[in-house]
Amino acid sequence: MDNSNALPLVLLAEQFAKLPGIGRKSAERLAYHVMSMSDKQVHEFAEALVNAHTKVHTCAICQNLTENELCYICSDPARDKSTICVVETPKDISAFERTREYKGVYHVLHGLISPIDNVTPDKLKIKELLARMNGDVSEVIMATNPTVEGEATAMYISKLIKPLGVKVTRLAFGLPVGGILEYADEITLYKALENRNEI
Ligand SMILES: [Zn+2]
Repeated sequence: MDNSNALPLVLLAEQFAKLPGIGRKSAERLAYHVMSMSDKQVHEFAEALVNAHTKVHTCAICQNLTENELCYICSDPARDKSTICVVETPKDISAFERTREYKGVYHVLHGLISPIDNVTPDKLKIKELLARMNGDVSEVIMATNPTVEGEATAMYISKLIKPLGVKVTRLAFGLPVGGILEYADEITLYKALENRNEI
């Protein structure tokens, strides 16, 4: 979008372009689309954006996103609190929940250790995970993606947890190395969970 356009429209397109996966062309298309929306639609859209950001925060136990103090998984008495599946993002929880087979609870790290991007262990929710090792936890499943960062994070955390007498396991990925959790189908993910190995 160039300067022949109205400035507010240019600024709107710039905001869209900051979103992941949105290129310059798509950002322009979205900005023009907003112009075709009704006042009501635009207000609802803006309100949903602000509401989601102000009302949703991290669960006091597992760091998943919730609008309550505890997320629906941590507050479910039927979930097995002795098994914790450690994931990178809240999105990964949805992937495991789709399998309908996992009955344990989760812990969201909100990132992976990546020195190159300046993400050191203290920037992740690792101390919150260690605080959960209160004697009731018997297994921690490291379910980070099979990428360099995912493996390094799994190893780092297992070194902290194993000395506490808790079993640490890793998903068995029978798939090419890379970011797969998001795209894996339920059966693949269930198998990776079933065939997990102790690390
Ligand atoms: Zn929770």
